[in-house]
Amino acid sequence: MTKISRQLEAVRERIAAAAGRAGRKPEEITLVAVSKTHPPEAVREAFEAGQAVFGESRAQEFQAKAPLLPAAVRWHFIGHLQKNKIRKVLPLCECAHGLDSVELARDMDRIAAELGLFPRVLLEVNVSGEGTKFGFTPEKLREEIGPLLALPRLHIEGLMTIAPYAEDPQASRPHFHALRRLRDELAAATGVPLPALSMGMSGDYEVAIEEGATLVRVGTAIFGEREKP
Ligand SMILES: *Cc1c(COP(=O)(O)O)cnc(C)c1O
Repeated sequence: MTKISRQLEAVRERIAAAAGRAGRKPEEITLVAVSKTHPPEAVREAFEAGQAVFGESRAQEFQAKAPLLPAAVRWHFIGHLQKNKIRKVLPLCECAHGLDSVELARDMDRIAAELGLFPRVLLEVNVSGEGTKFGFTPEKLREEIGPLLALPRLHIEGLMTIAPYAEDPQASRPHFHALRRLRDELAAATGVPLPALSMGMSGDYEVAIEEGATLVRVGTAIFGEREKP
């Protein structure tokens, strides 16, 4: 067993245990293995150990890496997407997690139509009001959810958040709880279920699962520390 496959196995076990504590099934949770800064060989190693879904957050790196890997690798783009990168990134990924403005959503919808795509997307929310620069505020999203859901090409599956960095994973719990409550509120208001909740990273994915995460984005715990940029 390689180091990556061992660490992957440990993360899967922890996901199953956290799901069990919350009375959930492990199959309800998709592990997105975040491979940013790591070479294609690391992705291949995890893929061969049975990991199917990978996350990248930098458009240029993603564009360079994706074609080097098997077509069966399923990519999620988890970063902030700039308008001028949409056309390149959309065809490569099955889901984009960082949709954070109506303007970007409109651009994405138009480009998806030109490319003949119906992309799966998640709306990024800044529930903490600090820490992350990107994301809708909850108030803004309440105002904009109607127009967003009306965009014909975007399949809006749910919400995503990044909790502020903290040593203690329990510090993330209120933010994850708030994201879930916001989702419940928006789903009730619109009649659209918005089933996906992308929340939790290496430091706090178990807490996120206890709070209802359906996608966890885990990098360091699988691939090891990233080099500083
Ligand atoms: C890098 C990154 C992650 C993974 O972080 P780790 O702490 O290494 O697990 C998750 N989500 C986003 C949006 C990221 O950019």
